[in-house]
Amino acid sequence: MGEFDLIERYFKRPAQRQPLGVGDDCALLAPAPGMQLAVSMDMLVEGRHFLPGADPLRLGHKCLAVNLSDLAACGARPLAFTLALALPEADARWLEPFSQGLLALADAHGCELVGGDTTRGPLNICITVFGEVPAGQALLRSGARAGDDLYVSGTLGDARLALGCTRGEWPLADAVATAARERMDRPTPRVALGLALRGVATSAIDISDGLLGDLGHVLRQSQVGATVEADTVAGRLAAGGAVDLATRRACTLAGGDDYELAFTAPPGAREAVRAAAQSAGTEVTRIGRIDTAPGLRLIDASGQPVTGRFASFDHFG
Ligand code: ADP
Ligand code: MG
Repeated sequence: MGEFDLIERYFKRPAQRQPLGVGDDCALLAPAPGMQLAVSMDMLVEGRHFLPGADPLRLGHKCLAVNLSDLAACGARPLAFTLALALPEADARWLEPFSQGLLALADAHGCELVGGDTTRGPLNICITVFGEVPAGQALLRSGARAGDDLYVSGTLGDARLALGCTRGEWPLADAVATAARERMDRPTPRVALGLALRGVATSAIDISDGLLGDLGHVLRQSQVGATVEADTVAGRLAAGGAVDLATRRACTLAGGDDYELAFTAPPGAREAVRAAAQSAGTEVTRIGRIDTAPGLRLIDASGQPVTGRFASFDHFG
C-alpha cells in the first residue's frame, strides 16, 4: 500500500459541509459570516503521550478528543481538522481501527477531516482543529474576575488513577481499574458545555496537565488569585471510595489527562451555569472562588489550609 492508496483508503471521504477536503493542495474552509476561526494543534508522540502498542481504535479517538477539548475551552464549534501522521509502516491492521476511532468521534461532532500529511517515521500524530466562534465571544483564560465562582465539569483524576495502577503505585479492583482506564483512553471533550457557557463564563481552560497547573495559567493571565476547596475537588474522583484521601487529592488536583473544563462565572450567573450544564448534559461542580490576592490557596472542608506539593505535568519541567 503506497502513500496515496493509504490516504485514499483510510482518510479521504466525500466533502461534507466544508467546500474542499482531502485531495487538493489546500483544503477550503467556510466559517459563517461574523464568525472568528478558532485554531488549535496537539501532537501525540509514542512513548510520551501513549505507550508503544496502544490500542489504535482508542488512540484515534483520543488524538482528536484532546484537540476538540481545546475548542470546547474557547466555546468554539468544531468545523474541520487536519492530520499529520508519521508511521513506521503502512499497516492495515493499525490504520483501519485508528481511522475508525478517529472518524467516529469526528462524525459525532460534525468535524470534517479536510487534509493532512503522511510520512514514514516514528509513530507521531499531530492534529490541527478549526472551529468557529462569534466574533468577540470566545472564552479566554484572561477573563476571570475577583469574586467569580470557580467550577469544574465532570470528574477529575480518573486518568491519573489508571496510570498509577498501571505503574504499580496503587492497586485497584478490576472494575475500578477498567472504568478509570476508559476515562484515560477515551476522554470526552466538553464541546456542548463550552458552547453553552458562551456569554455565561468569564474565563475557561481545559484541564490537560492537572487542575492546579492549568488553573495557574488562568490566574496569571487574569491577574487574580483563587481559593480552592481541596476536598470538594477530591470528591470529583469517579472511583472515590477506591483509594485514600491523599491519593484522591493527588489525582484530582494534579493528575492530568482529564480533558474537563475549569471555568469561572460571577455569583449572579449561578442559575445560568446550572442551565448550561443541564443543556449540555454535563455535571458541573463549584470548587472555589476567584480572589483579588494573587496565588492559589487550598483549603479543606473546615476552611483550614491544605499543604503539599501538587505539581502538574510539564514536558520540560
Ligand atoms: P502535497 O504534496 O500537496 O503536500 P500530499 O501528497 O501530501 O499533498 O497530500 C495529498 C492530499 O492528501 C492533500 O490534500 C493532503 O491534505 C491529503 N492528506 C495527506 N495525508 C493525509 C492524512 N493523513 N489525512 C488526511 N488527508 C491527508
Ligand atoms: Mg504533503
